Amino acid sequence: MFAIYPGSFDPITLGHLDVIERGSRLFERVIVAVLRNPNKTPLFTVAERMDQIRRSTGHLTNVEVDSFDGLTVTYAKMRQANVLLRGLRVLSDFEMELQMAHTNKTLSEEVETVFLATSNEHSFLSSSLVKEIAKLGGRIDHLVPQPVAPDIYKCYAKILPISVPKQDSTPVVEHPRTEFLPGMDKPG
Ligand code: ADP
Repeated sequence: MFAIYPGSFDPITLGHLDVIERGSRLFERVIVAVLRNPNKTPLFTVAERMDQIRRSTGHLTNVEVDSFDGLTVTYAKMRQANVLLRGLRVLSDFEMELQMAHTNKTLSEEVETVFLATSNEHSFLSSSLVKEIAKLGGRIDHLVPQPVAPDIYKCYAKILPISVPKQDSTPVVEHPRTEFLPGMDKPG
């Protein structure tokens, strides 16, 4: 049985990777599908996100990375997949995910949504949280797959470092500029 794991993955986190790894043990093939969403301004392009997912899932032989736009069920049918894999963290996820699963069921009877409960250690983790921490200059290595962390640091360092003098006017320290943060419009 083939499963599609659709999402934004902006960027992929250890929570996503955990769902992918567990899904890959349950299904013959897991297709991680990055949604091309014109209504969002992401931090990473679709191509960059696909590359990050590929670099993070190289150890899983039955995982494929793709992108799609339009309806998820249409894409699933096109890929001959009859399962949509989704992760559940908190109660607020449940409401939205259930609504989406029911909606998808009205669109296609054959496609089932399967939820994997988050592992305890990832229950708090989201792409937005990772971006928020990185934006404020914190470390995120323990929250994202190892090949992805440098991309995130690089991305924020690129955003015009500015010089901020310390109060005692001893050496000037460099801080990343934090005004600009695309892709923060939705949790996830
Ligand atoms: P979307 O914009 O579709 O919500 P995301 O990339 O935010 O895309 O999430 C994709 C899927 O992964 C969703 O089902 C989400 O609930 C799940 N997910 C995200 N973070 C975690 C986590 N830490 N643990 C388990 N599932 C997660």
